[in-house]
Amino acid sequence: MSPMLADARPDEATAVVETPRLERKRVVIVGGGFAGLAAAHALRHAEAEVVLIDRRNHHIFQPLLYQVATAVLSPAEIAAPIRQLEVRQRNLSVLLAEVTGVSLADRTVDASCPGAGVRKVAFDFLVVATGTRPSYFGHDEFAPYAPGLKNLSDAETIRAKILGAFELAATTEDEGERARQMTFILVGAGPTGVELAGSLAHMVKVTLRGNFRRIDPAKASIILLDGAKRVLPTFAEPVSRKVARRLEKLGVKVMTDVKVETIDDEGVIAGGSRIPGATVLWTAGVAASPIPKMLGTKTDRAGRGIVDPFLKIVDAPGVFVVGDAASVMQNEHPVPGVAQAAIQEGRYVGRLIAKELKGREVKRPFRYFDKGNMAVVGKNYAVLERGSLRTGGFLTWLVWAFVHVLSLPQLQNRLRVQHQWLWSYFTGQRSSRLIPEPPWTPGTEAR
Ligand SMILES: Cc1cc2nc3c(=O)[nH]c(=O)nc-3n(C[C@H](O)[C@H](O)[C@H](O)COP(=O)(O)OP(=O)(O)OC[C@H]3O[C@@H](n4cnc5c(N)ncnc54)[C@H](O)[C@@H]3O)c2cc1C
Repeated sequence: MSPMLADARPDEATAVVETPRLERKRVVIVGGGFAGLAAAHALRHAEAEVVLIDRRNHHIFQPLLYQVATAVLSPAEIAAPIRQLEVRQRNLSVLLAEVTGVSLADRTVDASCPGAGVRKVAFDFLVVATGTRPSYFGHDEFAPYAPGLKNLSDAETIRAKILGAFELAATTEDEGERARQMTFILVGAGPTGVELAGSLAHMVKVTLRGNFRRIDPAKASIILLDGAKRVLPTFAEPVSRKVARRLEKLGVKVMTDVKVETIDDEGVIAGGSRIPGATVLWTAGVAASPIPKMLGTKTDRAGRGIVDPFLKIVDAPGVFVVGDAASVMQNEHPVPGVAQAAIQEGRYVGRLIAKELKGREVKRPFRYFDKGNMAVVGKNYAVLERGSLRTGGFLTWLVWAFVHVLSLPQLQNRLRVQHQWLWSYFTGQRSSRLIPEPPWTPGTEAR
């Protein structure tokens, strides 16, 4: 057992336990997402004790979360246990805990461990890789009505909401209520909103065909709303136009340049009009986790920690922020919050720390290498933008599928996802159509 995990075991759940400082330097990484795992991997040969802290026991491949939300894949197919790293990396130990505080003066983090109180984990180097959470742009009251998509339980909640809405539509006698149950409103037309809308459109037309005697799922309304002037605003305009046309062909109503004013249990009010809809999904904004703010450093408007060109916090030696939690500028533009950027930043910091541990100075600042952005729209169609290269269609969709399968965390995930995709491609079926709990409470099923 690692020295950090072998220390005193508290009797009381609230006890604060201090971890002893070691002769070997300790690198604490908070967050087992893309950035945290890349940093840990880059430190695999380092003469240091690496402690990886995450509040979840699994890494999530977020780019395929929308497929869990639309029943194509099941949660385990896009997740991998973080603890498995202890087998592969001898200098690493995993701690399942939520970091709730950081003291730069004492060089410790407060790690709240389930059933074991708070541990003060001492560090010599700290890598904050805590990612983001959904942001409702100051309207947190929308949250209960419009779940965001950030983790596996969000994806399962959305899946249950979508499938449950069809069940409720099939049981109600009220025409207006049936129409409301069969209206799905997605707020935010970035990549997540576009991918979710495309997948949902395919599901209502193909997967659910003939599944209900009393309703025709193909008549469902899918509305994609955004306050921006076009879908995929971070892509070039011609790409956005193509994607909007493709979505409309799939039956998605695209409404851009429309501000959402209210979200409640009836639906949304947008651009002054009410749109009744039982399922509203939030695919709009994200904000950084609260940890960068705890470092007492400058943060940007989304709460991301502002770092120097070496991804360090100014005036805090050995403290780094990487991935979606970091605000990194390159050529006067922000480095995007995408998986590739998180991996490259995590790897860079891991290598930098490994060199510093050997007493070597790193002179080359971080450079983000943009491999391009992709978004998939329903079956057989994806777009790719890389520098001046812009392309879309079936071949791009094949490239998208290939790249995503290869990027999955474990061989097991790759095999299972390929299998599900092939099954779904040729049969139109989706094997994860589960509603774990009934979508109604007794007596409320029909309005
Ligand atoms: C639905 C969705 C679709 C996406 N699609 C794409 C795509 O197609 N292509 C692409 O490139 N990017 C995509 N992204 C963005 C990409 O997933 C992120 O850029 C990437 O995950 C960022 O990696 P990260 O390591 O910074 O953070 P994350 O992957 O979010 O990991 C953060 C980790 O920190 C842990 N954590 C947070 N706070 C604490 C705490 N206080 N204590 C302990 N642990 C904590 C979390 O549990 C999590 O494991 C998508 C994101 C989402 C949500």
